[in-house]
Amino acid sequence: MRGGVAVSGAPSMEELEGSPGFPSKERLVKETVAVIECVQEIPCDVCGSICPHNAIEVTSVKSLPRLVEEECTGCGVCIPFCPGLAIFLVDYNYSGEEALISFPHEFHPLPEVGASVEATDRRGRSVTKGRVVRVTERENYDCTVVVSIAVPKKFAQLVRGIKLPGGG
Ligand code: SF4
Ligand code: SF4
Repeated sequence: MRGGVAVSGAPSMEELEGSPGFPSKERLVKETVAVIECVQEIPCDVCGSICPHNAIEVTSVKSLPRLVEEECTGCGVCIPFCPGLAIFLVDYNYSGEEALISFPHEFHPLPEVGASVEATDRRGRSVTKGRVVRVTERENYDCTVVVSIAVPKKFAQLVRGIKLPGGG
């Protein structure tokens, strides 16, 4: 991905790999882990207080969140509470061929579990087909729903959302 967040609105892989919220490749393939894609020093520190396992460190309200990858349990609690919709969960070992990607979703209609959907990258561009595995709605999530889709493993760090026929 070229341009980066200042040009395209979506972070480039270089920006992500250089940011403290991005898990190492070793951690990614080991167990489910949060991927924090927050690369701009905006005044926000919600994630630092929401993680129940102290796996996100935010040293000041304008510093980038740091993922303490050895403490992350992959619970996904942080996903719906990030106002920037910048936290994802990757289960690289979901199956032999597929990774499970969980992401915040704020469009309607919601996808149906089992449906085949268009899986998109950080800029909303189609990447591959995904299968909806979970749609998690909770009262305390406010208007954010967490959607989990299975995609081929090779797209685990590329797919970050879906595009539905109705525009969602
Ligand atoms: S997935 Fe769970 S343990 Fe990991 S950073 Fe998010 S809230 Fe913390
Ligand atoms: S809650 Fe989201 S936007 Fe705020 S610091 Fe954490 S990752 Fe960045």
